[in-house]
Amino acid sequence: VTDRVAAPRTTLTQPDGRHVHLYGAHRQAPEGYVAPLISEGIAQRRWHPLRQEWVLVSAARQTRTFLPDLAQCPLCPSLPGHSSEIPASAFELAVFDNRFPAMRDRGCCEVVVYTDQHEGTLGTLPPKRVSDLVDVWADRYRELSQRPDVRYVFIFENRGEAVGVTLPHPHGQIYAYPFIPPVVRRELDAGRRYAARGKGCLLCALVLAEVQAGQRLLISDGGIVAYVPAYARWPYEVHVAPEDHRSSLTDLSPSARAALAGILQRVSRAYDRLFDRPMPYMMAVHQRPTDGRRYPQAHLRVEFYPTLRDAGKLKYLAAGECGAGTFVAEGMPEERAASLRTLM
Ligand SMILES: [Zn+2]
Ligand SMILES: [Zn+2]
Repeated sequence: VTDRVAAPRTTLTQPDGRHVHLYGAHRQAPEGYVAPLISEGIAQRRWHPLRQEWVLVSAARQTRTFLPDLAQCPLCPSLPGHSSEIPASAFELAVFDNRFPAMRDRGCCEVVVYTDQHEGTLGTLPPKRVSDLVDVWADRYRELSQRPDVRYVFIFENRGEAVGVTLPHPHGQIYAYPFIPPVVRRELDAGRRYAARGKGCLLCALVLAEVQAGQRLLISDGGIVAYVPAYARWPYEVHVAPEDHRSSLTDLSPSARAALAGILQRVSRAYDRLFDRPMPYMMAVHQRPTDGRRYPQAHLRVEFYPTLRDAGKLKYLAAGECGAGTFVAEGMPEERAASLRTLM
């Protein structure tokens, strides 16, 4: 629909060849800036013959000391005496190649920094910034999808120490996989089978059903809806998707992208209000693969997997989930939706 890139982009190349894309306004790095170097290490793909899926092996040998003070945040702007990952003393949004990539030869790993402010969340950022973020995602999807070694652009965010994040600085990541990951493959197969029965797009049908039922619907705004799916696996799991069939962020109009950004913020805020503490979550964006094949069944979707089921209780993935692939969801999705709706 549009090739608009919201913010002007400046691309810098670090001495080790890694790229830094600065979106929007920025100020130059201070004099004496020393770029961090990519970690030495091994990144391999190993095939799991039983599960029929890839395992990424990332064995970084973390030998280099690159920061004047390791306690200082690598995602904050660079200041005299503090050289961060971002060669700028002020910036809006920044994307850079991960220094500890899980993929090296084929595919790539990027870090998306939402702001140059150290504190904050998707929910507390200015609305314009989150709207720009969605445009940056679209830009990254578009650019990475053109690489012949990239078959799937996976945009995601892990937030909170409970999901292993040690940096509080607001950021997400992008894994540009040289294969279509198994969860996506399985969902696309389900969509293909559904369409083969002459029923059209599976997700279009699921979204319509949620809108019509209304019971688990949280928000409908600007053609984008958020709902707790009937089949939610995580406590307070929320899916966000366009009502009309759109297969990637680049297929959304600028106004639909802004609507999506607004809804992501509202979901994030509701999560933080739920237990009056920052909700740890994983956020995953599902889009059309980029391997050059046709995927008419692909329907853009953002999924949130919050990990708190109660104020002090974490949902752990245990034997049932990991060993058998079967979630036990404590609590009714309809009740979860009702609780979240009052906080939107
Ligand atoms: Zn920081
Ligand atoms: Zn659809």
